[in-house]
Amino acid sequence: MVDEKKLFVNIHGHRQANNVQEWVLRSLMASQYPPDDIEYGHYSVGFHPYNVGKFDEQDTLNKVRLSTENPNVFAIGEIGLDKSIDVPMDVQKRIFEKQVDIAEFSDLPVILHVVRAFNEMIEFMKAHNPSVPMIIHGYNGNREMAADLVKAGFLISFGEAIAKDNTKVIEACKEVPLDHMFLETDEGEMDIREVYFTAAELKEVSLDQLRVQIVENVKNHMPKFAGIF
Ligand SMILES: [Zn+2]
Repeated sequence: MVDEKKLFVNIHGHRQANNVQEWVLRSLMASQYPPDDIEYGHYSVGFHPYNVGKFDEQDTLNKVRLSTENPNVFAIGEIGLDKSIDVPMDVQKRIFEKQVDIAEFSDLPVILHVVRAFNEMIEFMKAHNPSVPMIIHGYNGNREMAADLVKAGFLISFGEAIAKDNTKVIEACKEVPLDHMFLETDEGEMDIREVYFTAAELKEVSLDQLRVQIVENVKNHMPKFAGIF
């Protein structure tokens, strides 16, 4: 039995755990729901902006809705707004907002994909003030924006950028309070433990303190996680 306090929680990955101390929330595109191995993992399920226009809107939103009933689906995501792709912002916003409604209805946190749309996210937060945690994954913005996002009520997840000498993101990571922070691997090859080692250094805490804090954060913001320990 792994000590829950010593887990390396990976809040956003696209693979299975690769060491016994890792707990990973696997990100699944709604169009692929349900996966064959749903019983063996824990998932977030969402209609990603990349897939808008590629799959039927109603069908895909229905899959998101259906997924919330599965005990192994812990969050809605990744969903969000992306200005780097060729999908109209009003369509992205409509689909995003419908999924936040689903998250609120089912009391699940939201994992957010945000590309060049942080201001739109802050506006959304001000206008809608959702009742569920909103976690921005793979944060790659600067320190000032991170401070604004935390002030607006977002939680922020950092990935391999902090371990790859990305000065801008490193400064942002130093800015975000520990109780607002998560760590992840996303699609990268990096071991989650390496992300933790780097984050512990940046935050000037021990590795154990960091792990205990992040487990606490997940318990506080992800009710189904709290239920498995
Ligand atoms: Zn991802």
